[in-house]
Amino acid sequence: MFQRSEHGFGHAGLTLTLNSAHALPVEREGWAGRFDRLAEYLSGLDWVPDLGANVGSLEWFRGLFACTLLCVLPIMLMPDMRPLPVAVPAPLGHDAWEETRAQTIAPAAWGGDTGKHMAATDAVIALANAPERPTLELTASLGQGDGFARVLERAGVGEDEAHQVANLVSSATALGDLKPGTQIKLTLGRRTNRNVARPLDFLAFRARLDLGLVLKREGAGLALQRIPISVDRTPLRIQGQVGDSLYRSARAAGVPARAVESYIRAIASKLSLGSDVNADARFDLIVEHARAATGETEVGKLLYAGLYRGSRKTQLLQWTVGGRTDWYEASGVGQARGGGFAQPVAYARISSGFGMRFHPLLGYTRLHRGVDYAAPYGAPIRAVSDGFVANAGWAGGYGNQVRIAHSNILGTSYSHMSRIVVSPGSRVFQGQVIGYVGSTGLSTGPHLHFEVYRSGQVVNPMTVSFASTSLLSGNELAQFRAKLSALLRLPVNGSAATSSPSTAWR
Ligand SMILES: [Zn+2]
Repeated sequence: MFQRSEHGFGHAGLTLTLNSAHALPVEREGWAGRFDRLAEYLSGLDWVPDLGANVGSLEWFRGLFACTLLCVLPIMLMPDMRPLPVAVPAPLGHDAWEETRAQTIAPAAWGGDTGKHMAATDAVIALANAPERPTLELTASLGQGDGFARVLERAGVGEDEAHQVANLVSSATALGDLKPGTQIKLTLGRRTNRNVARPLDFLAFRARLDLGLVLKREGAGLALQRIPISVDRTPLRIQGQVGDSLYRSARAAGVPARAVESYIRAIASKLSLGSDVNADARFDLIVEHARAATGETEVGKLLYAGLYRGSRKTQLLQWTVGGRTDWYEASGVGQARGGGFAQPVAYARISSGFGMRFHPLLGYTRLHRGVDYAAPYGAPIRAVSDGFVANAGWAGGYGNQVRIAHSNILGTSYSHMSRIVVSPGSRVFQGQVIGYVGSTGLSTGPHLHFEVYRSGQVVNPMTVSFASTSLLSGNELAQFRAKLSALLRLPVNGSAATSSPSTAWR
């Protein structure tokens, strides 16, 4: 029952399909049917045959036709392009061309005659006097070792007036303090005849970071006007990480080159830069800094040099004791240094001790009055303790010698120096370089002959202890500590992480 019903349904459907298929071609007879057959015919053809083969055949001509059509069609479809119409300059006449030609730059190959001077003809009448400008405005610049009056005279100010102006300016600021390169703006006025200098009508320049000066003509004389410029003198503090190079990192953080050099010199006097300072260490610099309200800045000397290596801190502050400015370590300045003395020459071997010995040059046995340190030529010699230079100069067989009187009855002398860098009467500190190893006087080679005196008598240096007291004490120590803490309270103005060198000053 089910199968028959399905079969009957299917048969009926087939009949329907056959009927419609049979009906359609009959209905579409006409142009549409012909078009279908044409399209079928054309698509069956090879329109792009090889034009090298079967030349002259129907197929070849069909290929030639297709190729020509493909070439002609784009040419026909190409948009119409014409040049834009522009005004053409009228051609120059002969005379006008000759006149223009003298002012043009023409290649030599075209017969360029640039720069040709044309002789004046009879038509040219020379003027008796060229007219003068009523006023002249110019800028003069102060050179190295230049004088203020000389600059004005060079600019055309009369000699008398230049000196008068220089006197006037020197009442406001010392002329010697003017920086080379200072720009001076001048206005020179009208003169009665060309045989006299023009009078100065106006003059303005920056005398100092905090002072501008203006001179104006008022009646017959000149009036000086001071223009104070407010200056902020808060020191500049810059911190950063040492990284690969202390110099480069500090420069990148915006520290001026001169301050970095002072910093490195200060740190190197207390630490070995090669082995003690690693990439993780942080530097902390405070430099004198002046910011004028007009935008100019001036960077002064280094005030504080800090180097932080984890918990270990090296803090150096510049301080003046007895007229001598030096770097003092913040941690050690108040402490009395223990006994013993600094080595006069670092890492030197004692080549000859105190006592009787055969003198190699004199040829007999006598008392060797000191200790010889074998050291290379030019090695620095340092004061073993604080004191005053009693003598510095040539001392016979001792060669170049420095004698230092220390705080108590002790004295030291350093002989055979190649060079002395202290002068008699000056104060020296423990570890300060006083000269360099040499071989002057009765000496067989570069070495330091070091003697110690107690109440004027030579003693064995190895038996002496230099008890040294604190460099700073009482009021001075309190001032030192106050200055240090004031500086360390300064905010950080720049660091390698937060500022770029271009936003800081150069
Ligand atoms: Zn000796």
